[in-house]
Amino acid sequence: MHHIKKLDGLTIAKIAAGEVIDRPVSVVKELVENSIDSGAQRIQVFIQRGGTDLIRVVDDGRGIVAGELALAVEDHATSKIQSVDDLFLARSMGFRGEALASIRHVARLQIVSRTADSPFGAQIDAYGLEIGTITPVAHSKGTSVTVRDLFRNIPVRQKFLKSPATEFSYIHDLLVGLALHYPAIEFVLSHDEKEVLNTRGILSLDDRLAVLWGKELKGKLLPVKFELSDYSVTGLISNPTVTYSNRSRQVVTVNGRLIKSPVLQKAVSQAAADAIPNGRFLACVVNIGVPNGHVDINIHPQKLDVRFANSGFVFDVVMKAVRLALSGIRGEEPLAAMAPPSSAVWLNQPPDNMAAHTNVLFQALDWGGQSEILPTRSTRDISFIQMFDTYLIVNAGNALVVLDQHAVHERILYEKIKDRSIESTYCQPLLAAEVIGLSPDQHARFAEAESVFKEMGFEVEDFGANQIIVRQVPVSLAGPSPERLIVSILDSFFDNPDMSWDLVLQDKDRLQRMACRAAIKAGKRMASEEVMAMISDLIDTPGNYTCPHGRPLFITWTKSDFEKMFLRT
Ligand code: ADP
Ligand code: MG
Repeated sequence: MHHIKKLDGLTIAKIAAGEVIDRPVSVVKELVENSIDSGAQRIQVFIQRGGTDLIRVVDDGRGIVAGELALAVEDHATSKIQSVDDLFLARSMGFRGEALASIRHVARLQIVSRTADSPFGAQIDAYGLEIGTITPVAHSKGTSVTVRDLFRNIPVRQKFLKSPATEFSYIHDLLVGLALHYPAIEFVLSHDEKEVLNTRGILSLDDRLAVLWGKELKGKLLPVKFELSDYSVTGLISNPTVTYSNRSRQVVTVNGRLIKSPVLQKAVSQAAADAIPNGRFLACVVNIGVPNGHVDINIHPQKLDVRFANSGFVFDVVMKAVRLALSGIRGEEPLAAMAPPSSAVWLNQPPDNMAAHTNVLFQALDWGGQSEILPTRSTRDISFIQMFDTYLIVNAGNALVVLDQHAVHERILYEKIKDRSIESTYCQPLLAAEVIGLSPDQHARFAEAESVFKEMGFEVEDFGANQIIVRQVPVSLAGPSPERLIVSILDSFFDNPDMSWDLVLQDKDRLQRMACRAAIKAGKRMASEEVMAMISDLIDTPGNYTCPHGRPLFITWTKSDFEKMFLRT
């Protein structure tokens, strides 16, 4: 029992395969990635019994020449890389050359393929160590891979599988993610002969999002587009009025590669922290473009994670990109440039549809020279009614707008307070400078982190003999113990050296409380000048969908909403 023995080849192969293929969805992932790599425009996935009976992926890609079919199912055979260096350059989904080989060790594998310049297709069957001969068959250009009896030869694996419905739901989620990231590719998915997903003719990301994730996203997506020193973040994010109770509608790719990255999802959450309620999540589909050599894609057996050379920097870039997208609503891009919703969209929208309503408010209130829209910034009269001393009902010409006076004012004040604290009038000299003793390694770190402390508004210097002296700290971080604060910053600086510190975010709760306290309360009667000024401020305020806690600022009803309510349509 305790003698060391070398495992036989088949056992070794099965163990290795288990890392790549742990459930049906991992087979589907490998096969669909191969289809994407082959330049396919159309990828069909057929599943039976959650994938345990059958998985078939059919593509119209480049195909495999008959002479190479046997090689394709061999261990470590790939057309995608030649050396380890290529790993850092590979833009293909696959690179290890072990997917097809792994699959044949855990299931019956059949490949039929034809390249454009071959008159016939060719077929190969493989299972375990048996690799069949190549036979000619008819097949259209492209490749069909069929996988049957998954894990039939590995009963322990079978025991770990969930119900067919659950296994299929993983496959469905995967296909949705891929379909969102490859809007130019047509994906079809069916389960037990029933088609459950088909993106034919839906070739824009907005449309795919609405179809795959729900109509509520239509017209409520903000573009993400940000570049910083060869890194880029692109995609779409839901506006803060559309949130979900979990992160299932957050899909992130790195250089087109679908990964599961809690860190990057956290960056998205932080960026939206002062626009959505706690515990809610935006929908997003973003790709992070990372320069060659800055990302290691070979760290996870199923390629579900990557390692960045500068992880803190990537976190920052993603956070800034999302921030910009959320505030871009009225920031750099003039509101007038936003496409007004088409009439078709209007008719399909329920009256609680915030994004479309926001457009109405801005069209109505920001008037962009449209003479038929009545209220203008210079109007001294915006006839309004205050209801329950809390809600302002405003006739905005082409819509009826109801504002929550406290929420609106809170958002306006929060943005002003935030701007003020960014202007860093908020560093405070300590009454008495404090000398802090550090350990030798902390002291060594301090030399490297000194500039970071300066940027944050600290005045702190080396004081010799493993000591530093603190003269000033940012007010927002001022607490009973500058020492503990500085040591904790030093430590996190070394965990994530390239991550910038966001003081405003650290300070978010305090700023929110200040805004909340100062804002006009519900239950206060408002004078018409106050209302006018508030609406004018609102138009100039970033994040003007929700209050800092994530509650909506206003709701609107357009003429067509009224017509629907009164059954005139
Ligand atoms: P990898 O994708 O890492 O190269 P695989 O085992 O998944 O390894 O595939 C081995 C090789 O078989 C690929 O490099 C590719 O040349 C070929 N291949 C697999 N699937 C397809 C496909 N659907 N279309 C064209 N070629 C394919
Ligand atoms: Mg592959």
